[in-house]
Amino acid sequence: MSERPRIDLFSDTQTRPSRPMREAMANAEVGDEQLGEDPTVRALCAMVADLLGKQDALFLPSGTMCNEVAYRAHTQPGDEIILHETSHAVHYEAGGPAALSGVTLRTLPGERGIFTAAQVRSAVRDGAPHTQRSRLVSVENTTNIGGGAVWPIDALDGVAALAHQRGLATHMDGARLMNAVVASGQPAAAFARGYDSAWIDLSKGLGAPVGGVLAGSRDFIAEALRFKHQFGGAMRQAGIIAAAGIYALQHNVGRLAEDHANAQRFARLIAQIDGIELATDVIETNMIYFEVSGTGLTAPQTAERLLERGVRIGATSEHRMRAVTHLDVDAAGVDEAARALAAVADAARRPS
Ligand SMILES: *Cc1c(COP(=O)(O)O)cnc(C)c1O
Repeated sequence: MSERPRIDLFSDTQTRPSRPMREAMANAEVGDEQLGEDPTVRALCAMVADLLGKQDALFLPSGTMCNEVAYRAHTQPGDEIILHETSHAVHYEAGGPAALSGVTLRTLPGERGIFTAAQVRSAVRDGAPHTQRSRLVSVENTTNIGGGAVWPIDALDGVAALAHQRGLATHMDGARLMNAVVASGQPAAAFARGYDSAWIDLSKGLGAPVGGVLAGSRDFIAEALRFKHQFGGAMRQAGIIAAAGIYALQHNVGRLAEDHANAQRFARLIAQIDGIELATDVIETNMIYFEVSGTGLTAPQTAERLLERGVRIGATSEHRMRAVTHLDVDAAGVDEAARALAAVADAARRPS
């Protein structure tokens, strides 16, 4: 794409580092990260370990690597991971669990990306030698394909307790955990308390350009560090990018509430458009999934016509689209995006 869309609701990954964030990056103290000598990376890891209530943390170049390193550290080849059928690791990590950890995935259904302890209980295998060994339960909070839903803490605790009782480890993909924190008013450590590993993404709604931070026990992080090296994720003067993460955690968490308000606003506006139907009843955080089949257009056609009007919203299937609010789109931008969608739908209904 040559020209940047005026309003980009494609993803909260579209955020760009702000001027003051770039200043923090320019001024960062740095050292050799691979040798554990970068003071800014160390400060970021200490911050996230504390935030998630864990002993230690590891800075990684991406959220995907947080999942993949954690999976590798928790499992042996031939083991099985239990997770929701809509999980990021099932669909968007290029087969990483199979390629990098040699594990099978046992996927569970459930409303909005959430499953129950009872489902986990029936999925855990009995340990017979001719079956995979159930080893890890992995949850996503907030859920992505699930529509930005926030897991209730008691549901998370229930899944974790059952997993631990059956000898399985637990992992939380918290790419958007801070959205759950802001939406619920509950601390991050409360969401993560039952989970042996948990991570947050710095490059989504928090607005940093690069990175995720994986947290867990000292022993788990020592093991994860081996795989960070093995997967090529160890860096050098990474304080430059870690400084953006520190800035994000200090300045960009509370404001996620604005993204959630803008998501509600967008949902309210587009629900009034003929032919557009919201895919979920509630918008809890910053994602809005909606169906466009009532307009007579497919989702890719709608995306293309929106782009002509300077608005980018992604098609996630033949008839479904996803809009994600973030710090580079304000309420006026959301209003303009909704007007553009109304115009596209209206033009499609008019006989040419
Ligand atoms: C974006 C995302 C990831 C991967 O993070 P990257 O930083 O893009 O690699 C993992 N899980 C979920 C739920 C995500 O939304």
